[in-house]
Amino acid sequence: MHELSLVEAILESLIPMCSEYGIEGKVKKVHLRIGRMRQVIPDVMRFAYGVATEDTVLRGSVLELSLIPLRLSCPTCGAEWQGDDPIAFLCPKCGEKNVKTHSGMELEIESMEVEQSDESSDNDPAVRHGGR
Ligand SMILES: [Zn+2]
Repeated sequence: MHELSLVEAILESLIPMCSEYGIEGKVKKVHLRIGRMRQVIPDVMRFAYGVATEDTVLRGSVLELSLIPLRLSCPTCGAEWQGDDPIAFLCPKCGEKNVKTHSGMELEIESMEVEQSDESSDNDPAVRHGGR
């Protein structure tokens, strides 16, 4: 499964990030930007994420995907276009094959949603074990 190797690549940077920020086990959602060129099927990607995170600090978190469209331009005639398909690698105006890719190869963690801790009252001076 192609998606699983992508998920594993993400986890390699995501898991150390969790310990760095001290949010192990608190992550609810991970937002990922992924280019169309990666050719992932979102459902398969989410499933692979669930499997791959089962024994990690990210267990129980959900993967959200933003698919980034493919954006290309032609160095010969200057045309710019978008496409969801790798077949778009041909200039629609002049037929140039050596086109430039501007986006569509992304694989980056955009943001994470972390559970709010309820421990703030621990530092509250009003909470004391009283008695005089
Ligand atoms: Zn062209």
